Amino acid sequence: MDRAKRGECPGRVPPPCPRCEGQLDNLAYSYLLGLYLGDGHIVQNRSMRVPSLSVFCADAHPGLMDQCEQAMRSVFPGNSVCRVRRKGCHEVKLSSRHLWCLFPQHGSGKKHERPIVLEPWQEAIVHAHPWEFVRGLIHSDGCRITNWTTRVIAGERKRYEYPRYFFTNASDDIRKLFTDTCDALGIEWTHCTRNGNPYNISVAKKTHVALLDAHIGPKY
Ligand SMILES: [Zn+2]
Repeated sequence: MDRAKRGECPGRVPPPCPRCEGQLDNLAYSYLLGLYLGDGHIVQNRSMRVPSLSVFCADAHPGLMDQCEQAMRSVFPGNSVCRVRRKGCHEVKLSSRHLWCLFPQHGSGKKHERPIVLEPWQEAIVHAHPWEFVRGLIHSDGCRITNWTTRVIAGERKRYEYPRYFFTNASDDIRKLFTDTCDALGIEWTHCTRNGNPYNISVAKKTHVALLDAHIGPKY
């Protein structure tokens, strides 16, 4: 069954490359690229000839898990996508011999230990679908949190909430891809050190948070 899934059974033609031989779903790809750069992993074991792409999705966010699976199916219509149960999350996974072609950023070692540079065709897709890309990055490595405080106005204590978005990634290049896309969308951001961690980008200005809410919203 595994071999059949990977298209290795005799008589079955392996699915064509979605980029070189097919019509790539650019919208879904922009989102999936964000997910991959955020928290995706491409693995090729010696025992497994076909590489696999995994994105780990928390069980707390079933909606995001569905979106991830849907994006994989749209980008790789000829391949099957499966969910592997892990502790507190599911690994959403697909195998394809064309993963290298779709994600040329793959390399040995961790993403923040090597340069991550988009190819021109990927830049064109991100440029055409920037919200999808930002959504993918935030869904994998970001969050929307609500800080609150109280203030006494006219003798009455009122509660004020300050929602903000964070994007946290150890790779300078990936943070730059995030902030460059924010710049293109007119979203103001700041570097934010939290718990001594310098890897945070914060979007806190009210109108800009509202813009992110309209396009992304909390994880669900
Ligand atoms: Zn290809």
